[in-house]
Amino acid sequence: MRLLVASHNKGKVREIEELLAPLGFDVQSAAGLLEPEETGLTFEDNAILKARAAADASGITALADDSGLAVDALDGAPGIYSARWAGETKDFASAMARVERELAGRDASAKFVCVLALAQPHGGVKTFRGEVHGRLVFPPRGSRGFGYDPIFVAGGMNETFGEIDPALKHSISHRAKAFEKFVAALGP
Ligand code: IMP
Repeated sequence: MRLLVASHNKGKVREIEELLAPLGFDVQSAAGLLEPEETGLTFEDNAILKARAAADASGITALADDSGLAVDALDGAPGIYSARWAGETKDFASAMARVERELAGRDASAKFVCVLALAQPHGGVKTFRGEVHGRLVFPPRGSRGFGYDPIFVAGGMNETFGEIDPALKHSISHRAKAFEKFVAALGP
């Protein structure tokens, strides 16, 4: 089955290709297709927007994801705005400092969320949500991973996602869980 990965992030496309190639998917990248503006108000909205636009423009079944950090005491912020909090220069040090400032010492419970959307050209769409729950720590620790990884400690762990082995992160992450649901929905 041909599958278009609706992302211009080469790392993301490669990761998805590695996961899906053994399942018989011929994974293609969306290079050249325009990415729609992320105008949705939920992870589901934005993942669907991206998958729908890519599927309709290409005529190929498309998979897109939207993800972010949701902090309980901040009513789920930065949430769908996680990338935008880092600004044009992708300054995650200042995005993490903003989280610390807004949290102001309150309960540090948080989760990472990933929603995958699979859209048929001009047809149906399905979503798959994965979450990993944990807590935030300050100051940031570790130089592995990306984004908000240095302030996130998953439940039952002591080290941040910026400190642990990436293979361990990939086995328990929000993205891994969303993919498990997607793969399970493909059937035997
Ligand atoms: P997206 O590419 O529009 O889905 O933006 C996701 C944003 O959420 C990223 O830029 C990161 O800021 C944040 N994010 C998502 N997943 C992770 C993760 O696994 N670790 C750290 N930050 C993440």
